[in-house]
Amino acid sequence: MAVIYYDPVFLEHDTGRGHPERPERLVAILDALGIDRADALPEATDGPHRFVAPTAATLDDVARLHPPRYVEVLRDAAARGGGWLDPDTAVSPRSVDAALLAAGAAVAAASAIVPDEDARRRAFALVRPPGHHARPAHGMGFCLLNNVAIAAASLLERHGLDRVAVVDFDVHHGNGTQEAFYDDPRVFYASLHRWPFYPGTGGADETGEGEGLGTTLNLPLHEGAAGGPFRAAVDRIVDALDRWRPQAVLISAGFDAHRADPIGGLAVEAEDYGHVTRRLVQLAETHAGGRIVSILEGGYDLDALGESVLAHLEALDGDGSAGGA
Ligand SMILES: [Zn+2]
Repeated sequence: MAVIYYDPVFLEHDTGRGHPERPERLVAILDALGIDRADALPEATDGPHRFVAPTAATLDDVARLHPPRYVEVLRDAAARGGGWLDPDTAVSPRSVDAALLAAGAAVAAASAIVPDEDARRRAFALVRPPGHHARPAHGMGFCLLNNVAIAAASLLERHGLDRVAVVDFDVHHGNGTQEAFYDDPRVFYASLHRWPFYPGTGGADETGEGEGLGTTLNLPLHEGAAGGPFRAAVDRIVDALDRWRPQAVLISAGFDAHRADPIGGLAVEAEDYGHVTRRLVQLAETHAGGRIVSILEGGYDLDALGESVLAHLEALDGDGSAGGA
């Protein structure tokens, strides 16, 4: 069973009226999991999942991706009562606390699957703000700190792994994550996404550079693409990673490719998320001792988000077979 890292402080990252990346997203996911209160850490008795409160990422953890000066910029904006990093990306008074806890949740989820006798093998970070657009010194695209990249870096530097896969199925390209590891052969970044589309990166010709040449894989999808091309792109990622043999699989799990999403423009269904998650669980079982961590990114239609995360978690809890839970 996947352990879910969650903290009610994630609800306090205030992006303002009408912003798609809003606290209600997490409320909708918890509701889909059968939990009717988002303002407290759910008890084990509330459902089939075990919830764990994360601790904030340490500055050492964050500094593997982001220069300390950038974190100070965020803190200054929060202390002033808020501000904007770009026209989409808000900092509110509690945003830095939420962002450090979100990064901490990703690090804790990754640490929980590191090989040892107590390893839990499956974990989900139910967090906001999301992270995959955040560049080292520039938050953007609703993202302040790059949660999945900080988690991957912790597996490399703190736990000594040297082959970590990051699979990103958010409808947007994870430019920040790609940039963080573009020349690093220890992280294989694989993304499927609508293209051309925000943030503009993610062409098929972007394949890494230097020692990292060949450990970036971008699979662009056309506007309106449905489950067939989406599943086929994940098959191609799994084929590539079967050859690369990752020691751990991290998922940048965005659900904004769903047909109902107001900004994504693709036509994926909840069961497609279940299918591709089973493929990634199979991949992790084959090469990584089953170690797989999922970290929430986007997804902006509340009903579709709840339904999609439910399908994702059911697959994450299964054994990777089509008939599994
Ligand atoms: Zn997205």
